[in-house]
Amino acid sequence: MVGEVRLMQVLQPSDHVVVVGAGLAGWRFVEAARRDGFIGAVTLIGDEPYLPYDRPPLSKQILSGKWGVEKASLATEQLVAEYEVTLKLGVAASALDVAATTVHLDSGEALSATHVVVATGSRARTLQFSAGAQVHTLRNRDDAQSLESALSKLQRGDRVAVIGGGFIGAEAATSLQARGLVPVVLEAAPRPLMNILGEDVSSWLEGLSGRVGVELRNDQRIADVVAVEDGLVVLMEDGDSLPVGAVLAGVGALVNDQWLVTSGLTVDNGVVVSENLIAADRVGAIGDVARFMWQSPLGEELVRIEHWQVANDHAAHLARYWTTGRAPEPRLVPYFWSDQYGKKIQLLGHPRPSDEVVMVAGGVDEEKWLALYAREGVVTGIVALSQPRALMLSKRLLDETTSLEVALGERPWIS
Ligand SMILES: Cc1cc2nc3c(=O)[nH]c(=O)nc-3n(C[C@H](O)[C@H](O)[C@H](O)COP(=O)(O)OP(=O)(O)OC[C@H]3O[C@@H](n4cnc5c(N)ncnc54)[C@H](O)[C@@H]3O)c2cc1C
Repeated sequence: MVGEVRLMQVLQPSDHVVVVGAGLAGWRFVEAARRDGFIGAVTLIGDEPYLPYDRPPLSKQILSGKWGVEKASLATEQLVAEYEVTLKLGVAASALDVAATTVHLDSGEALSATHVVVATGSRARTLQFSAGAQVHTLRNRDDAQSLESALSKLQRGDRVAVIGGGFIGAEAATSLQARGLVPVVLEAAPRPLMNILGEDVSSWLEGLSGRVGVELRNDQRIADVVAVEDGLVVLMEDGDSLPVGAVLAGVGALVNDQWLVTSGLTVDNGVVVSENLIAADRVGAIGDVARFMWQSPLGEELVRIEHWQVANDHAAHLARYWTTGRAPEPRLVPYFWSDQYGKKIQLLGHPRPSDEVVMVAGGVDEEKWLALYAREGVVTGIVALSQPRALMLSKRLLDETTSLEVALGERPWIS
């Protein structure tokens, strides 16, 4: 990687770091750099008009009506002032001149920096149906507000179609049910989460929706969503139709890397970066947008991972690397959680859906279990349903490369 071939010089008080993307990773970088002693100039650019906020509550506490959006904020005006950050909100970066470390904005302004952090995250994938913007997505505050305004017109007991039974879809269905609406989850695959968690784990989770009374329809092929006088109708390819009050699509995310295609950086399903999150000399990329070299239990792997914890860890790693010239120990173990159908699913590691799975504690009927993923005889991940303590006790199986045989002998989850 270019940035690391040269002798690395740590951040100096005269340096100016421009952080593009005022989401979780961008804001956490600012916090970490200040904590690590950087006293130079920091500019934070965000295309949303809001101070940095957290996204996980959008599909949980906020959609269920328990929280107002302001409760998800990550930064206050006071913190921004304390950290001496120059904020530029409501303006998008449109290009990056890597050699000059200059960020061009769509306002026409050009910002000269000594270092640039790319933290532009990802956006919701949209589906093109006749009902257009009435098919909602849930990625940001504006999405949440527009969905809220559609839901506020519905009565308790009204049906809402949720397209996609993955993490966002399942969480949204749970929250819609909590506010008295009747979600119907329309999943394209034979089972939700099959392509992420694999055959076995997805089958263990499949019953959860039904047990709390949420209707899940698998193998659904949607032909269109059309607006009618009193709501919307979801039209299926097999001729079925589903009249609903609102539609939310949770069908995945697309990475926000288009603004960098002319930059000369390697952009290929995200900005390709080294283990230290370096894309080029004095340019780093962190969070959802980064496709990084990860030290997996089976060796180096180039991955892009859309997890809250990874965005946090990336921010801390890059800040520490740039302020001290040293990479922080220990190696990154990706962590993800999802609150759905009254349960907490937690995943450690970055297993593949084709990995072998062994349930090692609990059982499906108990609705509490812990399972290990393994590939080539090595533990690649740990997944738990409502077993947070056992999961954390088992984390050391991923801190160091551990064979499945050793893991099954040591059984750290019961210590
Ligand atoms: C509804 C929802 C629920 C989630 N729940 C969980 C969960 O339970 N567990 C979990 O592990 N993860 C969850 N996540 C994922 C987690 O929130 C993300 O991994 C995390 O937000 C990534 O942070 P980021 O800063 O990389 O990207 P983002 O949070 O997407 O922030 C990027 C920011 O950059 C801005 N931006 C984009 N392009 C530009 C540009 N050209 N110029 C300026 N600004 C730009 C974006 O608008 C955005 O504000 C959830 C995500 C969503 C949407």
